[in-house]
Order: sequence, then structure tokens, then C-alpha cells
Amino acid sequence: MPFEPETFTDACIAREYRTLRILDELASEASVEQPVYTDIDQQSALAKIIDILDDNGSLAFASLISDPPPGALAYDGHLVSIIIVSLDIFAALSNAAHFPHNRRLDMTMRTLWPHVVRWGAVLHPARGRLIRAPGDTRRNVTAVVQAYLSIFKTPDIAYLRCFLHGNPDAVAQTFELWLRFPYHCLKSAIQEASRTVDGVITLFVILDNILLNYATTTDRALFEDELFLTIGDLRTLYHTVSRQTRFLVELTVKSATACGHWSEHFSLLARCLCVCLPRCPRRPRVPKKAIFSIVSAAKLCVKIQAPRDAALRALGLLTSLCRAVTSNRPLAHAVDAGVFDLLRDLGRPSSDSHDVTEFIRQLCGGLFHPRVSRAFNRRHPDVPRVAPSPARAEPGHIPDWQDVALLWSSFLRPYVEAYDARSAKLTTSWRFTTACLNPCGPHNRLVRVCPCGTAFYCSGSCQKMHWPIHREFCCADQGPWGSNGAITLDDAMFICVLARGYISFLRRTMAVEIAAMARSRPDVQISIRIDLCYDVLPVPRHTIHAYSEDAMRPVHGKVMVEALLRVGAARPRQPLPFGYALEYFEL
Ligand SMILES: [Zn+2]
Ligand SMILES: [Zn+2]
Repeated sequence: MPFEPETFTDACIAREYRTLRILDELASEASVEQPVYTDIDQQSALAKIIDILDDNGSLAFASLISDPPPGALAYDGHLVSIIIVSLDIFAALSNAAHFPHNRRLDMTMRTLWPHVVRWGAVLHPARGRLIRAPGDTRRNVTAVVQAYLSIFKTPDIAYLRCFLHGNPDAVAQTFELWLRFPYHCLKSAIQEASRTVDGVITLFVILDNILLNYATTTDRALFEDELFLTIGDLRTLYHTVSRQTRFLVELTVKSATACGHWSEHFSLLARCLCVCLPRCPRRPRVPKKAIFSIVSAAKLCVKIQAPRDAALRALGLLTSLCRAVTSNRPLAHAVDAGVFDLLRDLGRPSSDSHDVTEFIRQLCGGLFHPRVSRAFNRRHPDVPRVAPSPARAEPGHIPDWQDVALLWSSFLRPYVEAYDARSAKLTTSWRFTTACLNPCGPHNRLVRVCPCGTAFYCSGSCQKMHWPIHREFCCADQGPWGSNGAITLDDAMFICVLARGYISFLRRTMAVEIAAMARSRPDVQISIRIDLCYDVLPVPRHTIHAYSEDAMRPVHGKVMVEALLRVGAARPRQPLPFGYALEYFEL
């Protein structure tokens, strides 16, 4: 027992302490796995423990069983110390009781569970200040964690579930201990810290497993509501993501064996996100720090050859974070943090790499937006050339970093380089996407675009003249393309230029299908739908659709263009603000 309290002056506490020391020794004697019924000593150790526990005069766990005094506990150092010792011995005895031959002890230990939870809640109140023993700054967290661990590790899951429903405090505290472990552990005491971190993560994993394997609606309500109550809001969760991840990185850097829980760490965070997102209608920005910490931690995991799972779970968490908002900002941060290098380090994904595939989808969809593609261009000025191969276009192909590189170098880079987004309003690239909307005037060059991203003009005076008509359709109050900020004007112009280039490149291929469609159904609105979202590898594809005209809003031309986009969580189908005359597609 590493803990030596100062001499207890209170006679009762001193006696209790002596009894607990005896129990501690007996517990280690009883914790021998081997000979089950032959070893006399072991049997007698178990018998002695039960004798002591049954003897009311022995005072074993008397303080633990007593009710916590109201208030002023922080000043009663002796009581706090003896409780911490009690929790330690409780954990030792409970662990001994998990051996099949010590079953008898298990029943006795269970009677102490509610007391452990009650004292745990006093020492470590959920959403409150930690109470510490004097001169002993961190240890009581370890004691509480170990005591909980010995309860949660019981093989009797059904009983544990009933117990948790009767004592929801235990659930709340588990989450609380997990949420704040970077605050409770001293980084300098690596062994102690990693033991505590190990403990809190294991506690959460056990709860999570109960939920996954046995969950009924009431379980779900208990666990998920408590979890959400503990976390509070998304901002706290994002803060937790970066704080915990950076803490674990420090532990791992100091001692590679310190943390064996990387993949659990990432999955638990993803789990929390899953619980919190539906309950939070307001979505704050995902902080850059959180994204950077995940990417660098995942790289570290690959470097120290942590189980491959860890980096995959990290990518899963990144995908969830990117989809937590309706903007590509988190994705751009991930690119800035070097997530593409991480994909390269991971190499060829195996068939179970769902997390990698989903992340690559998110990344490739995002690359059609200037914020992400510019970040990519900045971070990776020379992406290695990848030779296109028919295998990459096959339906069952699992994408990897090479597919991203191929999409980038063969399709996207020329556009990104041609599109000088900083001076987008001055470059010629988008001016030819459409004509000035004002019907009178010379209109030889376009210099203006309405903030709604759908109306283009050759001059300010044209824009003014056309305003009485355009105001009926203008959606500038909801941001460009009425997307509520998901798409910036920059994105909108870039996508227009991209679509324009794509169509002029494939004009002849499209012409056959469009001509056939126009011949057979002259009254329909033909639309070219370019997929910049689902199926963009190895290069984006398009389909040609026919709508009955009244279902669509009017466009300027007979052939309209739509794009499927991927912006964070949203996957809008966006009509583009230009069209083509049928003659354009005549061969
Ligand atoms: Zn004009
Ligand atoms: Zn407008």
C-alpha cells in the first residue's frame, strides 16, 4: 500500500486503519489465481476476510459505511484519509472477489457498492470541486477510479446494470472523471497518471459496451442523458478533444508504454460527439486546436506503431468533426495539419477501413471548394504523380491517398492554379460563365456579381437598373446561393468555373445524349448534374437529367447545370447560375 497516513489521533479511526491493513494483506493472499480448493492458506485467507467483515466490532469500512458529514469535509483530513484507504482496500478485496473461488466474498463486497458511490460523489462531486486529503494532491482520484473499476469489472453485468440504474451518480461520476482526467492527473508522475487515465478510459469503455450490447431505452436514457449533462455543450466537448489528446500525446512522448488506449480514446470522443450533436441545435465552430491535436496524435500513433486501429479511429473522429458543421472549415484545418501525410503513412487500407474511406470521401468532396483546395495546394505543393489505372475506377475499389493525389494532379490542380481566388472579381475566369443580366446596354465584360452568387453584371449601373427585377429572386440575405454560409462567394465562383471547364472539356460526349433527349422530349428542361460529392474518384462524373419545365426555376438557356456538393454535414444539390443554349451541344 503506497499510502501512509499520519498517525490517527482518533482511536476509532486508528483501529479501523489497523483492520484495513490486515484486510489488505489478506486480499493479496486471496488474489492467487492458482490452486482453487487445495490451498489451505488461501481458503483461510478468504475465511479470515469474511470473518473480519462480518464482525461488527472490527470496524472494517466503518467510515465508508457512515454517512458523509454535511459540509466542512474538506477540513476533516483524517476522515478523508481513511476513506481513501478504505477505497483502496475495497478495490483490492473486490478484485480478489472476482476470482471464481472467492465468490462468497463477492456478495459481501456488493453491499459496499452504494457507499463507494456515495463517498465517490463527495470526494469527487460531479460538476463540482474535488476534495483532496491534506498534503495528498491527486491520489484520491486514483482511489475513486480504482474503486469504481473494481465494481465495473464484475462479471455479473445484469446486476451491475440494476445497480447503475439505482445509483445514477456512479454513471455521472464515471463520465466526469473521464471528461476531466487531464486536470486530475499530474504529468510528472507518469505511472500514476497513466494508471488513472487507463482506469477512466476503461470505465467509460465498460459503460459503452453495456450500452452497445444490452441497451434498452431506459439504459440509453440513463447513459446518454448523463453523458450529455456531464459534457454540457459542444464547446466543452471540443475543448475536451484537444485537451485530452494533447495530454495523452505528452504521456506517450514521455513513455511509449504509458498509453495503450489510443483507439479507445478516439472512439469514445466520436461516441460523445454522436450523443451531443442531435441535442445541440446550435453548432459552434470546431476549433483549429482540436483538429490539429487529433492529426498530430494520429501521426504519433503511426510513428510509435501503436495498433493501426488508433489512426483509423482518429480519421473516424475527424470525419465526424468535419460533418458536425455545415462548412468546410474543419476539413481545411485538417488539411493544414497534414492529414494527407497521415493518409500516406497509413498506406494501402485493408477492406475494413471504413473510417479511411469515409474520410477520403469527405476530403475529396471538400477539395472542390477553394478553402480546402487552397490549403491543400499550400501544404502539398508537389504531390507525387500517380498513374491512372482502370482498377481505380472499379466499383469495389477502396480509395487511398493515391486516389486523392490522382484527383488532385489530374483534375483539380489546373483549376486551382488558374483560379486566382484572391482577386476572383478581377480575373477573367468567371466572367464568361454567364451574361450580364441587364437586358439593355453594351455588356462586353462582367465585373460584378451580386452577393447572392446568382446574378452577374457588367457594371454597377447595370446592377442598379436590374435590381427591381432581381430583388424578387435575390437570396443574398441567406448568403451566397442561399446556403446560410455553407458556401462562400469564393466557393460559388470556383465551382462555376470548374463546372464550366468540365462541360467544355466533355461537350462532345454530352452532345450525343443531350441531342437524343431534346429530340424525343422537346418540352423538358435538360439538366447536366455534375457530381462533386459522392463519386468523385478517380475524376468527377456527370449525369444528364430531364425535368418537366414547371418543376424548375427558370434558367437562362435550355440546358441547365447542377452540382452535387459536399459541405461539412450537408450535401446540397445546387443549381448553378448559368445555362447553355441547345446549339452549344450541336456537333
Ligand atoms: Zn450590363
Ligand atoms: Zn442577388
